[in-house]
Amino acid sequence: SLPVPRPYLPREDAVDEEVRRDLDRWEADGEVSFTGRDGPRLFPATRAEALRALRRFTEKRLGSFGPWEDAVLSDDWAMSHSLLSPALNLGLLDPAECVAAAEDAYRSGAVPLSSAEGFVRQIAGWREYMWHLYWSLGDDYRHSNALGHHRPLPGWFTDLDAGAVTARCLATALTGVRDRAWTHHIPRLMILGNWALQRGWDPLAVTDWFHRSFADGYDWVMLPNVIGMSQYADGGRITTKPYLCGGAYINRMSDLCGGCAYRPDRRTGERACPVTAGYWYFLERHRPLLEGNQRVARSLHGLDRLTDLPEVVRQEESRGDAAP
Ligand SMILES: Cc1cc2nc3c(=O)[nH]c(=O)nc-3n(C[C@H](O)[C@H](O)[C@H](O)COP(=O)(O)OP(=O)(O)OC[C@H]3O[C@@H](n4cnc5c(N)ncnc54)[C@H](O)[C@@H]3O)c2cc1C
Ligand code: SF4
Repeated sequence: SLPVPRPYLPREDAVDEEVRRDLDRWEADGEVSFTGRDGPRLFPATRAEALRALRRFTEKRLGSFGPWEDAVLSDDWAMSHSLLSPALNLGLLDPAECVAAAEDAYRSGAVPLSSAEGFVRQIAGWREYMWHLYWSLGDDYRHSNALGHHRPLPGWFTDLDAGAVTARCLATALTGVRDRAWTHHIPRLMILGNWALQRGWDPLAVTDWFHRSFADGYDWVMLPNVIGMSQYADGGRITTKPYLCGGAYINRMSDLCGGCAYRPDRRTGERACPVTAGYWYFLERHRPLLEGNQRVARSLHGLDRLTDLPEVVRQEESRGDAAP
């Protein structure tokens, strides 16, 4: 894991106890149902807690944000991420004060530019972009389905059944969702979202799943992130190409493939990486739609050179939606 001080952890108090009692009672009465496993509260619930979390992040963890923001480590779920999205979305923190805190840390010489800039870009860039897109794209946007994906999500995925999954990348990401209702952006986009995209799952059902399973899920932030960025269901209104990857990308950005039963460079056979095979299977299915897109041209060129493509397609069709 990264040599970084651990993230801020709130101390639970009598209010937490009372909330847990209420939730347990409502669940027992059948009024609500929950997903994932209960555990200690990880995110701020008051303004004072949120300010402590922001301070701890900028003082102790922001410095290594830049170099590591897109990496994934199997035994370090938080890495250098801020874990501030629930507090921001609850209105406990103002995005501008988070940006100002990062800028101050940089100007005082406490953190390098790459880390301050990376964090500011996430908030002032991505978060604000998504917020304005949500209002600009309108309510019909949620029904976009440019790729014609209609498959329902399988039970192992909706139940967050990480134990049913052999593929280490997916099992690790699902474990994070099950135990913490949070993973950072790369497992969301390039592991969970990528798998849903490859398998042709219904984009609105995928959005509902993210919304229901994550601590920071809100309609305004889920719709552009899932319908647009992750599932390319809008046909490219907010991204220039689908965020799609094979095992080679996951191998490059993480330490997950080393301990996996599959090999990221194999497309067929017993040890074939399902993410790599799924990558080619997706491109083959959507070739006509993607053909005019210059940003996908190199991948489609690679597809043309695959001599075992019929075997890959057969293998992936027979996999169906079984846990990989
Ligand atoms: C498929 C998918 C679904 C997502 N769903 C949500 C969601 O429901 N709620 C949510 O807040 N974020 C969502 N995100 C964005 C991002 O993954 C999370 O904001 C981030 O992982 C939260 O962890 P953090 O606070 O440690 O973020 P850090 O990595 O520390 O980043 C700092 C802050 O930047 C903001 N941010 C960064 N990227 C985005 C983005 N794409 N959209 C909006 N804000 C962003 C967040 O407020 C975050 O707290 C999603 C991303 C993807 C790819
Ligand atoms: S080998 Fe494939 S399935 Fe296994 S962790 Fe790597 S990308 Fe995931």
